Amino acid sequence: IFILGIESSCDDTAASVIHNGQILSNEVASQKIHEAYGGVVPELASRAHQQNIVPVVHQALKKAGIEKSQLAAVAFTRGPGLMGSLLVGTSFAKSLAYGLDIPLIDVNHMQAHILAHFIDEPGFKKPPFPFLALTISGGHTQIVRVDHYFEMTVIGETIDDAVGEAFDKSGKILGLGYPAGPEIDKRAKLGNPKAFKFTKPKVDGLNFSFSGLKTAILYFIQKETKSNPNFIEENLNDICASIQYTIIRILIDKLKLASKETGIRHIAIGGGVSANSGIRNALKQGESKFGWTTYIPKFEFTTDNAAMIAIVGYLKYLEGNFSKQSITATARLKL
Ligand code: ATP
Ligand code: FE
Repeated sequence: IFILGIESSCDDTAASVIHNGQILSNEVASQKIHEAYGGVVPELASRAHQQNIVPVVHQALKKAGIEKSQLAAVAFTRGPGLMGSLLVGTSFAKSLAYGLDIPLIDVNHMQAHILAHFIDEPGFKKPPFPFLALTISGGHTQIVRVDHYFEMTVIGETIDDAVGEAFDKSGKILGLGYPAGPEIDKRAKLGNPKAFKFTKPKVDGLNFSFSGLKTAILYFIQKETKSNPNFIEENLNDICASIQYTIIRILIDKLKLASKETGIRHIAIGGGVSANSGIRNALKQGESKFGWTTYIPKFEFTTDNAAMIAIVGYLKYLEGNFSKQSITATARLKL
């Protein structure tokens, strides 16, 4: 069974072909244009998707070595995401499925970040049910209890900024480019995580808050640069390491609590921020420290990609769970 997955929720146009559980191609056209603006500009993203989608889908089919007539279904991201971006993928997928007279399958992007763990990939194990998923991305921060593929319950989430935003906004304060997450990660490896101390927010239960951290960093930098204008340049690696350390502590503390409350020790991470090496290490350490079994997806399946859409398409295909042509893109789609 060959299924085409299409992802266009934000600023990456992506297409992937999956054969049963195995990824045959995973193509992404990243939109460089937003770097100059320090964030994604929705109108430009939508236009770039329109330019990219046909070549990216072609490339995915070519890499997979199949013709579109061999496809069993077309899966696409319905939401959540930017409306203008989602509309391009949604309209394209609908037309293609209609033209080929094959099933159309809508996919929830956040569910896909979690179900990416079920892609067949040598050296990567699949989590058994029930497990806890920590989804950390540019727009979301959630702890999800996963009882089955499509039985997911959000048991904790951010009340303000997402972790990815915390990385990106901190980076902006430090004068780093967008997105700043990867750069902070790289510099954190060279710095002292305990050089500077940022207080952790107090949020009850399993919810998160990251907007206070951003403000704390802003005031800290304003204060330090007043007495030393070169403070950032002279301490950049230490600042990055300290910010990342604080973020990791916030995440791990909540995961510990979630694991304790649910009695579940299988912990999976997903979403773009799970590419972060410090978070990966901290999670691994949880294995010996807290008796966790952890699941960390292959790097290319963490940031936005179409392989994760294709695997959900495949799982839904097996259940005969198809969408109607009347389905619409939904910017604020819930899990
Ligand atoms: P959502 O999935 O919530 O709709 P999104 O699709 O924009 O949001 P992703 O592509 O999943 O988000 O993740 C992008 C985010 O991941 C950005 O905020 C980026 O800074 C962050 N990120 C990527 N790599 C790293 C890294 N190594 N360390 C920290 N953050 C990272
Ligand atoms: Fe995403």
